[in-house]
Amino acid sequence: MEKATGKSIFKGIAIGRILFYQKGEQQVKRVKVEDTEAELKRYEQATEIAVGQLNELYQNAVKEVGETNAAVFEVHAIMVQDGDYVDSIRNIIETQQVNAEFAVATTGDNFSKMFSEMDDEYFKARAADVKDISERIVNILSGVENSGDIGDEPVIVVAEDLAPSETVQMDKEKLLAFVTRLGSSNSHTAILARTMNIPALIEVEIKEEWNGKLAIVDGYSGTFYIEPEEEILAQMKERQDEDIRNRKLLQQLKGKEDITLDGKKIKLYANIGGVKDVASVLANDAAGIGLFRSEFLYLEADDYPSEESQFLVYKKVAENMAGKKVIVRTLDIGADKQADYFQLGHEDNPAMGYRAIRICLDRVDIFKTQLRALFRASAFGNIAIMYPMIISVNEVKKIKEIVELVKKELDVQEVPYGNVEQGIMIETPAAVMISDLLAQEVDFFSIGTNDLTQYTLAIDRQNSKLDNIYDSHHPAVLRMIQKTIENGHKHGCWVGICGELGADPTLTQAFLNMGIDELSVSPTFVLPIRKNIREMKVNGAPEL
Ligand code: PEP
Ligand code: MG
Repeated sequence: MEKATGKSIFKGIAIGRILFYQKGEQQVKRVKVEDTEAELKRYEQATEIAVGQLNELYQNAVKEVGETNAAVFEVHAIMVQDGDYVDSIRNIIETQQVNAEFAVATTGDNFSKMFSEMDDEYFKARAADVKDISERIVNILSGVENSGDIGDEPVIVVAEDLAPSETVQMDKEKLLAFVTRLGSSNSHTAILARTMNIPALIEVEIKEEWNGKLAIVDGYSGTFYIEPEEEILAQMKERQDEDIRNRKLLQQLKGKEDITLDGKKIKLYANIGGVKDVASVLANDAAGIGLFRSEFLYLEADDYPSEESQFLVYKKVAENMAGKKVIVRTLDIGADKQADYFQLGHEDNPAMGYRAIRICLDRVDIFKTQLRALFRASAFGNIAIMYPMIISVNEVKKIKEIVELVKKELDVQEVPYGNVEQGIMIETPAAVMISDLLAQEVDFFSIGTNDLTQYTLAIDRQNSKLDNIYDSHHPAVLRMIQKTIENGHKHGCWVGICGELGADPTLTQAFLNMGIDELSVSPTFVLPIRKNIREMKVNGAPEL
């Protein structure tokens, strides 16, 4: 038996054979052809197949990981048919009289180089996409399986690193777990693993010779057993059975109240990124949506989403939730979330840069469009709005002025809207320190512990080198949470947590003791946290 350790990003046990996953990079040869017409035809057919594959991948990915994460395949399908890209390939085939594989690979390399040299983060990122689609077409032309194919047997995928697009392409039925050498726990791939409920380890010193061997991923201890001894195998099978029993037990909590043993009711809500995630919110019986990350609507689009298109999305979510609370966070774009049409440009320190509410208060037209859509949708359900990255009372006052303007416009146009609760995210130390003043301006606070940890500890949440000291349990972070709750309550605000920390079962008791009113967690964490709440009593505020 061999043992390796890593960092777990999703708890659970997986037992199965290892598939050492490598990106198949093809060596493409330049071959002279006589019949360029036939070569162009081959190329056209391969493009059709590629578009078909990408559409199918998109449909599957939407079902498995939601629209937001699946959007990459839609973009790829568009890129495959892009005029300049197609012209370049056709031109190489015709003028150089060469095989389609060579024309596609050459165009892929040229475009990718051109993108990577651009002084724009969005276009730089497209370099990888254009390589990806070219590889797909070359693979089709030469009859090679595409990346993401993990065969017919269930496997533990071991890889150097996995791109989100590769993870999402893997057949969920066959993917038992994944183990990588690179990656960070806040990476997109890690978030996908959690969404897909798949045990996963990162930072493991992987070896190619493990390919095909039986192995166990223990997501509880972060251990990877290769060719495990009988005793370990039996122990882990027992643990796996226990997990299944626990999941079944959790199902019995559906329909039950989120209430402590001594009668304190908690609002237990779920976080979503789009309409598709609502199914999971309902399946896990959350009492509402505590964070709808609306920026994903903007990230999925090629241009600013119109008021009408946004209205339809918010309305649908509100209607599907049938009167349950839906808290929509207004556009939180910038930093790691970029959309080219915003033309945000390069910043040396984007996490502390032009982002979120700062953009909305600067480009009021964008903000007003979203607010109009939200208020209109509020006539169809129980919508609340919250604003991200607040640092001052002045910002909140400006927001309120714009909201009043929007409401007046709707009144004049006789457009109906509901009674909309207004809240802010508390995710900067500045907001915590003036939470007594902010509380007098709004109905509720929702603590964004992901950013609050980043800004309190001065640790970039995207930097995997600092994963080991990005400590959300740091007393400074916990004191910030406690102070926010105290100040909120003093001034009549209810207070929730919508950052990842809200789903940390080891902190549920502490949050209850601090007096938390709401926890908003990934849908799959709703029932485990409900179980915790129902087994606990509220004690006095903790000494931190
Ligand atoms: C947070 O910062 O905790 C949060 C919920 O927002 P996001 O993770 O989208 O920045
Ligand atoms: Mg945040």
